[in-house]
Amino acid sequence: MEGALDLFFQPRSVAVIGASRTPGKVGHDILSNLVRHGFPYPIYPINPNAEMSLLGLPTYPSVSSVPGPIDLAILVIPSGATLASLDDCARKGVKALVIISAGFREAGPEGAAMEKKLAHKARILGLRVIGPNCLGVIDTASRLNASFAADMPEQGNISFISQSGALCTALMDWAISEGVGFSKIVSLGNKCDVDETDILTLLGEDDNTEVILGYIEALSDGTRFMRTAKQISKRKPIIIAKSGRTALGARAASSHTGSLAGSNMAYETAFWRSGIIRANTMEELIDYALAFSYQPVPKRPGLLIVTNAGGPGILAADAAGEYGVKLADLPAEAKSSLKEHLPPTASLANPVDILGDAKADRYALVLEKAMSDPGVGGVLALLTPQSTTQVEETAKAISAASLMAKKPVLTSFMGKESVTSGLRLLQKNKIPNYPYPERAVFAFDRMVQYRAWQTSPFAPPEPLEVDSERVSSLIAMALAEGRSSLRQEEVFEVFSAYGLRVPRTLLAQDEEHALELAMSLGLPVAMKVSSPQIVHKSDVGGVRVGIRDEDAVRRAFNEIMENCSAAVPDASIEGVIVQEMIEKGRELIVGGHRDPLFGPMIMFGLGGIYVETIQDVSFRIAPLALEDTTVMLREIRSFPLLAGTRGEEPSDIEAVQNAILRVSRLMENHEEILEMDVNPLKAMAYGKGAMAVDGRISLQVAY
Ligand code: ADP
Ligand code: MG
Repeated sequence: MEGALDLFFQPRSVAVIGASRTPGKVGHDILSNLVRHGFPYPIYPINPNAEMSLLGLPTYPSVSSVPGPIDLAILVIPSGATLASLDDCARKGVKALVIISAGFREAGPEGAAMEKKLAHKARILGLRVIGPNCLGVIDTASRLNASFAADMPEQGNISFISQSGALCTALMDWAISEGVGFSKIVSLGNKCDVDETDILTLLGEDDNTEVILGYIEALSDGTRFMRTAKQISKRKPIIIAKSGRTALGARAASSHTGSLAGSNMAYETAFWRSGIIRANTMEELIDYALAFSYQPVPKRPGLLIVTNAGGPGILAADAAGEYGVKLADLPAEAKSSLKEHLPPTASLANPVDILGDAKADRYALVLEKAMSDPGVGGVLALLTPQSTTQVEETAKAISAASLMAKKPVLTSFMGKESVTSGLRLLQKNKIPNYPYPERAVFAFDRMVQYRAWQTSPFAPPEPLEVDSERVSSLIAMALAEGRSSLRQEEVFEVFSAYGLRVPRTLLAQDEEHALELAMSLGLPVAMKVSSPQIVHKSDVGGVRVGIRDEDAVRRAFNEIMENCSAAVPDASIEGVIVQEMIEKGRELIVGGHRDPLFGPMIMFGLGGIYVETIQDVSFRIAPLALEDTTVMLREIRSFPLLAGTRGEEPSDIEAVQNAILRVSRLMENHEEILEMDVNPLKAMAYGKGAMAVDGRISLQVAY
């Protein structure tokens, strides 16, 4: 099957089924694009009603009447006719089809049913299909423009996968006017067969593609995409604009594609995990694409800013400060040598301010030092056009300097009219220019982050001893009894089987029994209701803590029973849990849920009542490595509390990390767990461990 995907980009013959002689009709424009852009192999227009020739090519009434083999078929016929056409194509030995035709899933339930049939038929016949409802495909190296875009960009190292055909045309239009080159452009349409992961895999292997761009509304298979992206992103940057970031956007996306958009948070963590560079807007997508396409990634952080204007320099420095972009510092010798050649009022700090009257030579001077200094990771040259500014000369000097070392050089020539000639030169020399300095700083930041990802090895899974057989049988038992959650005692058993420390916990049936158990544990104790119907026990008066004497045990038992049966009359109450008191410790939460798109998602945050009120939490997709848990801990705002602030002891962070890893492993190993949490996980003082005081586990039947 892999081979068939190459046929989409390097076919040795193309048929346009539904070719038309009327300009402005899609069936005409695709044919015309193939011809106009010089596709060097046979092109077969197919139309039963057409005359002998279209655009100078002999026309055929059907696929079967074509004399030679057909590698790629482009379907531009009404949706209702596509199914029959699939049969014709299969008989002819066609393996790859691009279905441009609309009127499928995007058009409503009837269209969706037809698309289902289409996908099914294609699978049975062994056909690979891009689309339906797409713009087509482009491969500049093959001179293949099998799309109805107005034009085609020149050859370059960027490829674009898009779930929106319109964005393909918009991006191409921009690329053509800016002279930015592309390798492959694929409009996925409704993805009835070939999806973004298939194309991503192909682009990963494609020698003409060095930067992969994507516009995604919803992934077809999140886990598969992540797994693939994670490997490829180590070699080539993958930059994706994922729309539907907000509830409003998500609603628009799902009505556009008819599929579930998935939560933004899930995408955020999935992209992070796979080394994908996320662009929040199309503008960012293009900004980052240019940087990665034109310049090498920096080997180290440390940006040196050189400017002929104070204001833009400050804006750039602010952007760097805000996003934690490290600024480089030139060594003393470089500074003193610059001092000799620059006016005395020039500033040699970073940003290096070479003053408003700077000509190209001052830029050249600073750039030379920056390019040769090992402490500088990359350079940003800012320019505003004053009367004395040499726009073109400066562009030339920057371009020349960029060749001195394998370091990224970015520019922000601000303005329009007076800088245009310089911009053209920069573009020709593949120096990415940004209209405002902040955008250049962000682009550099993405490059630094990408380099860090690229050079960090995959962390091996943490060795953890767990008893998964015990957990499997507890889960199987619950499911066999038709339960969708585990009992309190079972939850604690699962926790212990996975190496989480739990307080000693016993179940009392009556008042006397409770007293007996409390004595055996030793006072003080905590007591709580045990009932499958009561999830939030304290909300219904089902929890008493710090019980210090016999009377209090008796009282607690009766109060808990009364409160709970009053609050939840039809709850079946199994008894009252008597539990060892864990007096000290910081209350945390570790949770897990199964994301429909990406699988197990792990949450960590401040626990107890804080979860709902301040939502100070961090999410990651399992499997987690130790590294991930370090990041999660630091991500929450209240991390300083854990690390120990003035007068407070630091918590046992290592034990907390270990607990997060164990929850992650539990979610990975047992697909039947839909949702779970440990809340609170009590983190004791450093060296004293962490204790899973309460938790819940809800189940689904896994398939
Ligand atoms: P729920 O979350 O269902 O209301 P919990 O068992 O989490 O019930 O109890 C509520 C709160 O009571 C916990 O967040 C914790 O602060 C406290 N608590 C419960 N059990 C203990 C215990 N064994 N030791 C110390 N504090 C406890
Ligand atoms: Mg709780």
